[in-house]
Amino acid sequence: MSGVLVYSEQPPLTLQNLTFASSLGYPAAAAVLGPQGESWSEQYFNHGAQRVYCMDDPSLSGLQTDIVSEALCQIADHAEAEIVLISSTLRGREVAGRLAQKLHVGCITDAAKLRAEEGQWIATRYSLGGKTLSEQVLNSGRKVIAVNPNTFQAEPLASGVKGDVVEVAPRAAVSPVRIIEQKPKPDTGINIESAEVIVCIGRGLESEDDLSMIQEFADIVGGVVACTRPISHDRHWLPEERMVGISGKKISPSLYFGIGVSGQIQQMAAVLDAKVIVAINNDRNAPIFQNADYGIVGDLYQVIPDLIEKLSR
Ligand SMILES: Cc1cc2nc3c(=O)[nH]c(=O)nc-3n(C[C@H](O)[C@H](O)[C@H](O)COP(=O)(O)OP(=O)(O)OC[C@H]3O[C@@H](n4cnc5c(N)ncnc54)[C@H](O)[C@@H]3O)c2cc1C
Repeated sequence: MSGVLVYSEQPPLTLQNLTFASSLGYPAAAAVLGPQGESWSEQYFNHGAQRVYCMDDPSLSGLQTDIVSEALCQIADHAEAEIVLISSTLRGREVAGRLAQKLHVGCITDAAKLRAEEGQWIATRYSLGGKTLSEQVLNSGRKVIAVNPNTFQAEPLASGVKGDVVEVAPRAAVSPVRIIEQKPKPDTGINIESAEVIVCIGRGLESEDDLSMIQEFADIVGGVVACTRPISHDRHWLPEERMVGISGKKISPSLYFGIGVSGQIQQMAAVLDAKVIVAINNDRNAPIFQNADYGIVGDLYQVIPDLIEKLSR
């Protein structure tokens, strides 16, 4: 048994994990479920997949996790995959656990890093509530590992691979879950994961009304407003899609402003790929200054209007 099978319900994330798997020299394959069918196959081949396993069936249309894990179990057996790499999205985490249970193998989710050394797959995960990192390995022969989105960058191969598309017939799967209604989330058109400039606000902001000042600053620097967890989850001033952190979005902008943000590890872990980090905080001992390239110790209610005034000249 050898090779890596890669799956995500979000094809761009499959490209990221395929790039990683093929860079290790392992035979890589991708699984495609449901009606999106073969439309992504060429891209998968270009990112290192030697095979694309497609399964389509009306039962897969809602991508229910119990049906998806059953389908992946079948494909993993068909492909004789040693490792199944899944993206650790909300749905992916659940699929990973269910799949591992069906395959009777070990499972790691939320891997913030992953490397292969001497045949061992070593995953780095946040432990103790995110205060520390641990390295974990699975002792089972086959393994299911769910890796955080954006851990790897998708890069097409210089010379594309021409692989095979393999249709796998689904086994009849009956789910006790019945979908009664599906509602799309409102699309704000803003994706902080791909933004080049992020203006992140934290609990230093005193009132929701002050968001307009932050938005004005963000407009001047060409940035997108993001936030820490207390702002999205406790105060509900911004939607959760704007939350940066290990339980929110991982970002990699060219420029990051942390304004009234303390810089706890659970937040900063998702920021450290930013090229330049600017911190504005009235506490000179705030942890964010340890990671900042530029720091302004001061009251944001003085610093931000000053910056708006100077940058608008
Ligand atoms: C398992 C786990 C997962 C978590 N995941 C996340 C996550 O994904 N994202 C996340 O954000 N958090 C996460 N957290 C919470 C995280 O630990 C912190 O509590 C949170 O990030 C703190 O948010 P904050 O910086 O806005 O608030 P605070 O820590 O309260 O910091 C506010 C900062 O504002 C400064 N300040 C106050 N007034 C002013 C002013 N007028 N001018 C300038 N500065 C001012 C203060 O000095 C302070 O440093 C997680 C926690 C756990 C346990």
